[in-house]
Amino acid sequence: MENLPVKIIRSKRKTLGLQILNDGTVLARAPLKMPEKDILAFVSEKSGWIRQHQAQLARAQENVGTQRLTRSDLEKLCQEAMRIIPPKVAHYAKLIGVTYGNITIRNQKTKWGSCSSLGNLNFNCLLMLAPELTLDSVIVHELCHRKHMDHSPAFYAEVLRVFPDYYKHDKWLKDNGAALMRRMTG
Ligand SMILES: [Zn+2]
Repeated sequence: MENLPVKIIRSKRKTLGLQILNDGTVLARAPLKMPEKDILAFVSEKSGWIRQHQAQLARAQENVGTQRLTRSDLEKLCQEAMRIIPPKVAHYAKLIGVTYGNITIRNQKTKWGSCSSLGNLNFNCLLMLAPELTLDSVIVHELCHRKHMDHSPAFYAEVLRVFPDYYKHDKWLKDNGAALMRRMTG
């Protein structure tokens, strides 16, 4: 297992769980008394799955770059977002048939967008580094929360009515989003 370094965290749990961290590290969450050799044997058994995940992470990092974004980079992205996002919001709000409140652009480490119960919308400036239709998929998602404040089948039906390729473009964030956010934290 020389080339698959594993970080082990023990706690009061009954089963062994594996997780690949955003930097590719393998994290094993193990029960307190499980022998280390059993943990490593399990990791070895899952090495195919682990390498696949690590390769996907590496590909994603290649897609979005590795250079750490500076404060001024982020400011520029926020300005660009303030110019590009509001007209798109206006366009999709009309298609969905909803109103909305203020639009705020932030640089956040966890969220791509949100919609408050008052209809205030919040978008991550890093979306400027994603494909345009991925940005659109986030805008449609948040605006559809003006009709359904949940992720129910009715919510997704509305999303798909307005934006039939939603899953295709939303997938980009699932595949590359974590790598993109890493450019903010280094
Ligand atoms: Zn949502």
